[in-house]
Amino acid sequence: MKTYLLYGAKDIRLDEKSTPEPGAGQVLLAPKFTGICGSDVHYYQHGYCGRFVPKRPFALGHEFSGVICGMGPDVQGLSVGDEVVVDPSMPCGSCRHCRSGQYNLCQAMKYFGSASCDPHIDGSLAQYVTAPAANCHILPAGISLSQAALLEPLCVAMHAVRQAKEIAGASVLITGGGPIGQLILRVVRAFGALKVAVSDVDEFARAFALKSGADAVINPLEEGAWKSCDGYDVVFEASGVPSALANGLEMAHRGGSVVLVGTLPETFPIPGNLIMNRQLQVLGSFRFANVFEKALAMVAAGIINLDGIVTATYGFAEVPQAMQRALSKDRVIKVQVAS
Ligand SMILES: [Zn+2]
Ligand SMILES: [Zn+2]
Repeated sequence: MKTYLLYGAKDIRLDEKSTPEPGAGQVLLAPKFTGICGSDVHYYQHGYCGRFVPKRPFALGHEFSGVICGMGPDVQGLSVGDEVVVDPSMPCGSCRHCRSGQYNLCQAMKYFGSASCDPHIDGSLAQYVTAPAANCHILPAGISLSQAALLEPLCVAMHAVRQAKEIAGASVLITGGGPIGQLILRVVRAFGALKVAVSDVDEFARAFALKSGADAVINPLEEGAWKSCDGYDVVFEASGVPSALANGLEMAHRGGSVVLVGTLPETFPIPGNLIMNRQLQVLGSFRFANVFEKALAMVAAGIINLDGIVTATYGFAEVPQAMQRALSKDRVIKVQVAS
């Protein structure tokens, strides 16, 4: 089969590999849509993502839907031809985090298309991929394969929103209007946020947020941009930019919460004293747990709308172009690869 492997920074190559065999409890999938994530862009741009440094070339792709085309022994409830979306989390199930229900914090987590585990798990930028049947969710009526491939980032957004104390009736600032920021906007709207603002340096992202229901947008590069804002109960940092976090901390109300979901640099200065004297709750949010089925049901029920999030689609032959486009941030929210 054909697969794209990441060899290093800006070096992603189409390679030939043997088609994987589904083991017990596994299915063989032909991926149909793969979303390019901010983390994929980090891998593509630098050859690594934060602390996750690849030890060998591997296939990216963890936001994916596909069609089942083979099954190993002991698979129930799925058939060849089913259209499914895959939850990419494969926690160990036995460490203390797994046992306490916080399996996103599993020390031995296996995740599709990630170098966070060793051996790395190849992702969906390939003609075929094997997946545990338990991770495959049949698409409910009315959800397309392309929309289904947005479930993983939607779950990241929902998990981040769950970290904040209270969204109903709250004023919310989202720093960063990329896919996660835009999805957080839709989730907090669904959860009853009173007013929502989105800040981004990119005009397209700001206009997109306004169209998607933001009450206000802020260009942090504009002088006095924050003057007319009177602060927020909850801030989501979804840009990964240190100055955006600083703005978020500055704009948080006393006693407010600031949720960090963007991939930030390892170290940088922050206005730390603000956290103390405003008694801010600074919270991290990593991947997600216990939310995939709910997110899928909420989309199917029309409570969360994914329309328009995919702004560019590339063919399987154009994976390097898709990466480049996502990296360029040129008039895009989510880039997908269609196979
Ligand atoms: Zn992702
Ligand atoms: Zn575990």
